Amino acid sequence: MPTGQQEKETRPPPVVARTPQGDTVAISVAGSRIDRVERTTSSTTASVVPALTDAHGHVVGLGLALVRVELRSCRSPEDCASRVRDMLGKVPPGSWIQGRGWDQNLYPDQQFPTRAVLDAVAPNTPVWLRRVDGHAAWANSEALRRAKITRDTPDPPGGKVLKDASGEPTGILIDRAEDLVENAIPPPSEIEVEQAILRAQDLLVSEGLTSAHEMGISVGVADIYLRLAREGRLKLRIYAHWAGDPSILVEAFRRGPARASGPDELFALRAIKLYADGALGSRGAHLKAPYSDDPHNTGLVLTPASEIEQISRRALAAGYQVSTHAIGDAANHDVLEAYARAGVTPAARFRIEHAQIVDPTDIPRFAQLGVIASMQPTHGTSDMPWAEKRLGRARLAGAYAWQRFLHAGVHLAFGSDFPVELSDPRLGLFAAITRTDLQGQPAGGWLPDQQLTVEEALRAFTSGAAYAAFEEGWRGKLEPGMAADLTVFDGPLDTPEHIVKRKVLMTIVAGRVVYDARTAEPPR
Ligand SMILES: [Zn+2]
Repeated sequence: MPTGQQEKETRPPPVVARTPQGDTVAISVAGSRIDRVERTTSSTTASVVPALTDAHGHVVGLGLALVRVELRSCRSPEDCASRVRDMLGKVPPGSWIQGRGWDQNLYPDQQFPTRAVLDAVAPNTPVWLRRVDGHAAWANSEALRRAKITRDTPDPPGGKVLKDASGEPTGILIDRAEDLVENAIPPPSEIEVEQAILRAQDLLVSEGLTSAHEMGISVGVADIYLRLAREGRLKLRIYAHWAGDPSILVEAFRRGPARASGPDELFALRAIKLYADGALGSRGAHLKAPYSDDPHNTGLVLTPASEIEQISRRALAAGYQVSTHAIGDAANHDVLEAYARAGVTPAARFRIEHAQIVDPTDIPRFAQLGVIASMQPTHGTSDMPWAEKRLGRARLAGAYAWQRFLHAGVHLAFGSDFPVELSDPRLGLFAAITRTDLQGQPAGGWLPDQQLTVEEALRAFTSGAAYAAFEEGWRGKLEPGMAADLTVFDGPLDTPEHIVKRKVLMTIVAGRVVYDARTAEPPR
């Protein structure tokens, strides 16, 4: 086997570490695969996990977010506005300032903020700030002006333009109404997208991830990924979904799925992402009965079930997997119905993304249809302070019900939904095992009967995620012949407290060292 110089530089030495089962092993790698796994008596504190994967993320979105105003830690609208002011001098005049991460549930009055707060710091620059869940956004007056939104603008289907007592838009746009502004923002250029992917993948591999499921890309972004893969510039595996927009689907069905996933192939594009409803925080999740804190509202339908059924049928015929965002119990029910009517079988491995609020009577249907529950443990711990207000006590029985899904025999795949939540998989593991925040609150965990064991949580982030991408035949286990996708941590992953303290020493993807803590630049 010829060994080029570059291969020599990136070929990992044998990894000596403890497995999740507690054995100490020496793992040697040949090419892109694990060659040998041998028990050893050498002593080491390091531990190794195969195929650590985020089964639901937005890689381009993460890369773009890294250069946007970060609002996650804001504690008031004025706090958010001051961060916008700090960014004003750093962007070219006239260009948009974009940000993400605000959450009015953390502010003193828990009310949606208004455009006036942003106008005070940015009277002439368009400002567009998306809520932490992406299902509501906050614009200043200049952004509304460029999007031609006035007091006469009606609510579009699946969205709302919030207005004040005098009928003027407040600056808050919900779900599909966000498109009114999004469509007025010039799209990122090819070089901006490429830089975003490269910036995001550096962060992801430094956090130990060896693969990410990219949820919903355009034709232009797909072509950038295909080029980066061809040029050997991807560091981790990307399992991509086409976005479900009609014009993108035309091209997706014309091209057909790219089936070439395998140990040596880092990019796969064989799935379609659809949206059934909105999110819980903005009361856009579609519920069977009204919100407990908004008695005339049952949420929003973003894609009618008949359309999900029709696209599913075409996807089955073409060999595509379908992954549909469904948060509310009505949305989950409708998607299961649509999949069933389309003739979905377990072999097709269709997915529901989030599956956050599910009527317990619908959970067995996931198993019957072989529908994978692709869930995000940190959504549970982010939402736990206010979820009961939205849903009432009874509906919490099927809220973020990870253990209930496992008991019903449903395949679980875990991720973070980055950049909605932080991408660091240690945080997702901790949330899945404890159902508390990082300070251990609430003591004992929120709805603790749904906590997972360390082993169950790790499985959902590794072999469970691999199954959700049809990859379990060649990755997800520490066995000879499996892809050499390995994350080495500086100590054991035996308790949630230990897991969050761990540092990533090395990340290996397809036999290549893509992150090494000894040579990495210090985090900025
Ligand atoms: Zn998402």
